Amino acid sequence: MNQQGILVVVSGFSGAGKGTLMKELLRRYDNYALSISATTRKPREGEENGREYFFLSEEEFKKLRDEHKLVEYAKYVNHYYGTPREYVEEKMAQGKDVILEIEIQGALKVKKRYPDALLLFITPPSAKELKRRLVGRGTESLEVINARLKRAAEEADGMEAYDYLLINDDIDQCVEKMHQLIQLQHEKTSYH
Ligand code: 5GP
Repeated sequence: MNQQGILVVVSGFSGAGKGTLMKELLRRYDNYALSISATTRKPREGEENGREYFFLSEEEFKKLRDEHKLVEYAKYVNHYYGTPREYVEEKMAQGKDVILEIEIQGALKVKKRYPDALLLFITPPSAKELKRRLVGRGTESLEVINARLKRAAEEADGMEAYDYLLINDDIDQCVEKMHQLIQLQHEKTSYH
């Protein structure tokens, strides 16, 4: 019988390298599906609608929310972000583990609704490295970078809600660790 998939929430400071980690995890293993969020923020250069995000107007986003088509949603530095329900439920039913790359408010909502969800928090090795990565990305204004760093400091307060904290100083090791932790969560949840 096909075991139901679990939800894996991956949070971490914007600039922690989550995107690269997720890509690598999905490349190495075929049991994972990555949820694509809806957002009201504008696409960054190189981002495509339906690939990184579904880029929506505020009106479109609120319609989805009001029709209960989002598993969770949150506001992050002036924009809405939310997880479309249909894809997540379909993939879990197929036995896939679904990765949600979302911020902390959303993570807490997911844990409430799906107690078997695994919550991982990814951090770069230091605050200095975090700023270097954010500035180096070159896609945001200094004002937005500072707002995101401020938000990162606030999010650090909520870290205890997470099952594991992973330091991303080596992509290869971090990906393997994530995979191990997800397998372990399956073993834990298959008992009930
Ligand atoms: P970014 O604008 O850098 O792509 O994302 C900003 C923050 O929003 C990141 O912390 C990201 O994980 C989070 N985020 C992306 N999609 C969702 C979502 O569907 N729900 C929630 N709650 N947060 C999200």
